[in-house]
Amino acid sequence: MNNNENAARRQIVEIGRRMYDKGYVAASEGNISVRLDKNHVLTTPTGCSKGFLEASELTVVRLNGEIISGRKPSTELPLHLFIYQNRCDVNSVVHAHPPYATGFATAGIALDRCALAEIIVTLGSIPLARYGAPSTDELPRSLEPHIAKSDAFLLANHGVVTVGVDLKDAYFTMERVEHAAHIIFVARALGGEKSLPQKDVEKLYDLRKSYGIDEKHQTPCNQEASCNCKQTLTETEFEATVQAVIEAVRKRLYT
Ligand SMILES: [Zn+2]
Repeated sequence: MNNNENAARRQIVEIGRRMYDKGYVAASEGNISVRLDKNHVLTTPTGCSKGFLEASELTVVRLNGEIISGRKPSTELPLHLFIYQNRCDVNSVVHAHPPYATGFATAGIALDRCALAEIIVTLGSIPLARYGAPSTDELPRSLEPHIAKSDAFLLANHGVVTVGVDLKDAYFTMERVEHAAHIIFVARALGGEKSLPQKDVEKLYDLRKSYGIDEKHQTPCNQEASCNCKQTLTETEFEATVQAVIEAVRKRLYT
């Protein structure tokens, strides 16, 4: 076991405790994984509370799902592997059931209105993936239309999955999603959130671009044959994608 794997084990234990303490998961719900190298992933075992994890209990698997060491992995492992296979820029995946965001997912409501400046800049919109039965390939398949465009996804009638360049990044995205869902819930109790005007949304998307947030979605593929990543866009394709996002935002605001 190298230093990189040791650090990843400690970090999964730490983040698992935080998720449990914050009420993002109950009992043995949720799962966490970290990409160790181009073909190995460290992940949480099945049936195990994230609040009481031990570093030695974690499981190492290959990107094809083969178990290398540790206990039987979470039944949601295919969801994690699907993401790693399709997003070269992602090195960690977090899945949880935080109550506000999961409430929106259960009510069938995406968090995609342009109302919170912070969320527009950091996450863009948070799509709602159609329902897929847990522990089946329906769940990874439900992410297919959204996987390249966002770092956070609501899973209909289920929960939330977030991704990041590392575990802290994926976890903070989970916090952001739940915090935003809580705020929108309060705003709706007070009469409903007010969407920002188009010109302000465009400025926020420019800001997002200047932070390089969109560019990370087009990191050149370095995972060779194991990767299905389709994000090696040309500059023209990238510009067209950005325009499509702005167009979608406009539509959302004015139709
Ligand atoms: Zn779940």
